[in-house]
Amino acid sequence: MYKGIECKIYPNQQQADIIQMTFGHTRFIWNQMLGMLNERYQNNKTLKMLSYARLSSLIPQLKREYAWLKDVDSVAIQCSVKRLSETFERFFKGFCRYPKFKSKKHQQSYLSTIRGQNIRFNPNQRYIKLPKLGWVKCKPSVRHIENERIQSVTVKQRASGKYTISILVASENQVLAKTGKTVGIDLGVSDFAITSAGHKYPSQKLHLKYQKQLHYWEKRMARRREKAKAAGFDLKDAKNYQKARQQVARIHEKIANKRKDYIHKVTTELVETYDVIVVEDLKTSNLLKDHKLARSIASQSWRLLRDVLTYKCEIYGKQLLCVNPYKTSQYCSNCGYDSGKKPLAIRHWTCPSCHTNHDRDINAAENIRNIGLKQALVK
Ligand SMILES: [Zn+2]
Repeated sequence: MYKGIECKIYPNQQQADIIQMTFGHTRFIWNQMLGMLNERYQNNKTLKMLSYARLSSLIPQLKREYAWLKDVDSVAIQCSVKRLSETFERFFKGFCRYPKFKSKKHQQSYLSTIRGQNIRFNPNQRYIKLPKLGWVKCKPSVRHIENERIQSVTVKQRASGKYTISILVASENQVLAKTGKTVGIDLGVSDFAITSAGHKYPSQKLHLKYQKQLHYWEKRMARRREKAKAAGFDLKDAKNYQKARQQVARIHEKIANKRKDYIHKVTTELVETYDVIVVEDLKTSNLLKDHKLARSIASQSWRLLRDVLTYKCEIYGKQLLCVNPYKTSQYCSNCGYDSGKKPLAIRHWTCPSCHTNHDRDINAAENIRNIGLKQALVK
C-alpha cells in the first residue's frame, strides 16, 4: 500500500527559480520526445512503439544537444520520459487519449523518485531535502513520516502561486484494534454527519465563512479583466488582474484544505472507534436530487467522506457498508413502525406505536446501522 501525503513548501527565491526551471525542462523533454515519436510514426507507420528503455537511452544525446538540461534534477527528466512512455502504454490499451503536448498553461509539476537519500526530512521535519534544491523549508505534516518509506515526490505550483509537494510513502497495513462496535451514519446539511451513537459532527459552513472574501476578490478579478482587455493587455501581463486571480485561487484552496482536514479528523475518529461503518449509498440517496446550494456544497463533503472512509477502512482493516437509505427517516428504529413522511422542520418526534422519543437524524442513523447489520448477516 502507498499513501500520498501533501504538504506546503516555502522555497527561497533561488530554489523557486530552480523549480520553475525544472517545470520548463521536464516539459521540454516531454514535448521533444513526443514530437519525435509523432514524426517517427508519420515516416513509417509499421514501426513498433519504442520501449521506455529505448526512449530513456536517448536522454544523454538530448543532453549533449541541449546542455542546459543538466542544470536540473536528472531523475525528474527521466520521470518525465517514463510518464510519457506510460501514457502511450495506456493509450494503446484504450485507457486514455493520445498524449498531448504540454503547455505552460497546464498545472505545473514534476515528479522525482528516490535515489539513495536524495529526498529526506530533517529530524523535526521542518525542512525537506530535494534533489538540486537542497534543504527546503516545509510545513511539517501532522504525522511523522519515516524517511526510509519515502518513494517519490511531486513538486507542484498551485494556481495561487504557492508551492506544495506530495510525497508517496510506503505504508504497512496497520490494522487497528478491534472494538466490536458497528455504527450507522446519517448525512445532513446543518450537521454534516450524525452517528447512531448520537454524536453530531457539525457542518463547517465554509462557503458562508468565505463568501464575502470570495465575492470581494471575484468582483475585482472580473473588473480588472475587463480593464486589461480594454487597454489591450495580454491577461498574462496584467499584473493587477493576476493578483486578483491568485487571491481567488488562494481562497478556494483554503476552503478545500479546511474541508480535507476536517474530514480526516472525522474519519480517523470513526475507524478508530468502530469495526463496521454503515453509510448511505449516495447514488440512491435522495439528498443529491435536491439542487439547493447548501446541499450541493454539502454533497462535495459527503463524497469526500465516503472516499476517505473507503481507503481508511481498507488500510486499518475495518469494514465499510453502503446501504440504500430508503425511508430511513420515516420508520422507528426501535419497533419499525412507519409513521410516514415528516417535514424537515420536525427535528424530534415520538413513535405512535412504542412511544420512543426520537431525534430525527439519530433515528435515521440507527436505521442505517440496522440495515447494515442485517446485510452483514446475509453475507
Ligand atoms: Zn416505535
